[in-house]
Amino acid sequence: MSALKVLMVFGLFEFSFGLSGRFWHITDLHWDPTYKLGNDPGQVCASSGNRPASNAGTYGDYVCDSPWELILSSLSAMKAISPDPDFIIWTGDDTPHVPNEQLGEEGVLEIINNLSHAINELFPDTKVYSALGNHDFHPKNQLPASFHNIYNVTTELWKPWLQLESQETFRHGGFYTENLLNRTGYRMIVLNTNLYYDQNKATEGIEDPAGQFTWADRILTEAANNKEKVYIIGHIPPGFFEKKRSKPWFTAEFNKAYVKLIQKHHAVVLGQFFGHHHTDSFRMMYSSDGSPISTIFLTPGVTPWKTTLPGVSDGANNPGIRLFEYDTQTLVVKDIVTYYMNLTFSNQVQERWEKEYRLTESFRVPDASPLSMNKVLERMAQDDCYLQKYYEYNSVSYDLTACDKDCRVDHVCAAREVDFSRYEHCLEKEAAVFTCGGFLPFLSVFLCLVLNAYL
Ligand SMILES: [Zn+2]
Ligand SMILES: [Zn+2]
Repeated sequence: MSALKVLMVFGLFEFSFGLSGRFWHITDLHWDPTYKLGNDPGQVCASSGNRPASNAGTYGDYVCDSPWELILSSLSAMKAISPDPDFIIWTGDDTPHVPNEQLGEEGVLEIINNLSHAINELFPDTKVYSALGNHDFHPKNQLPASFHNIYNVTTELWKPWLQLESQETFRHGGFYTENLLNRTGYRMIVLNTNLYYDQNKATEGIEDPAGQFTWADRILTEAANNKEKVYIIGHIPPGFFEKKRSKPWFTAEFNKAYVKLIQKHHAVVLGQFFGHHHTDSFRMMYSSDGSPISTIFLTPGVTPWKTTLPGVSDGANNPGIRLFEYDTQTLVVKDIVTYYMNLTFSNQVQERWEKEYRLTESFRVPDASPLSMNKVLERMAQDDCYLQKYYEYNSVSYDLTACDKDCRVDHVCAAREVDFSRYEHCLEKEAAVFTCGGFLPFLSVFLCLVLNAYL
């Protein structure tokens, strides 16, 4: 039976006009092929480790990676909501969170193959821009700075989506660039930022792994000369994890180099789109005089998997997918609509995807330009109810507890400062700021819900 037939999607009927285009962003699908319902909560999925999957259902469990039903359900929801997007961004992490020995190179490639096929089958005429995640390799995180069989086989799998020149650079470093939708003046850059991950031993001590920074600098310089407009996508973003204080992903040097690259070329970069966090957030980048120049949009994951990262207390999320609306002439991001599956409801009642929120409605900004996103950030920093709303969306409406004083500092500083030392400075500065945030748990989240409805 086709998932489409039984799929209920709420908030479907929205139309846009004029120069407005749409694209999907999906990320962190993390398919766990071992997922299987049975009597023993300890035996549901390998990705739960030793945590019992006590609420396991057809569409998954919060301690497990995605069962195939959830993968199909999310792709079917995309097809039902916006069946003919201009293109799709898919930013990696396809395999489950299990020890390397349980996957191997063949296991990783088989999973990439199955997911690529599933996407291609549902969207055969849609261009897909696809990036590798740190989990799309064996051993995980160890993506090398030169030719590798995994890059090579993935190139073969993604041939329908890759032009000849892209195939060449992808084989040798897992990155590529093409004119966006073959249109002169518009460009997509797909980066392999796994090369900059501090867990990646394969690139340790290399100043510019695979020459990607030099390459990106050249592509962006040419883009400026040719008056192009550019989108950048990748898996691991620079900056810090908002759910764990002082937790970056890139090494200090690579983080610095990335910030420098964008500061130099921000005039042509109209948007950056990343995954890896599994959460819904964003990062601001500023010029030396403090003006907002670029935004990194972090799209939540499809997998609901509760992170095992020490220090994160309840880091699961509901499965999310995201539709971007953009101006096809200027590439300015006009709006963002996040759709999600309430996993508990879908398991217990019926498979259901619904609109979680529309950025311009929920955050009351005219669009998703850097100026508007900076307004969202500064209002989050000052208004506890606004922050609370952001916080609930951060876990795709999974964690509805109050975002307290420390939580406010973590989220605000992660969004505001991608640079390492500026982030640390922000922590100090924000910790000293008095807001009502400390009282929020007592004021009750409910009060914010009421206020948010009227503000
Ligand atoms: Zn992931
Ligand atoms: Zn990742």
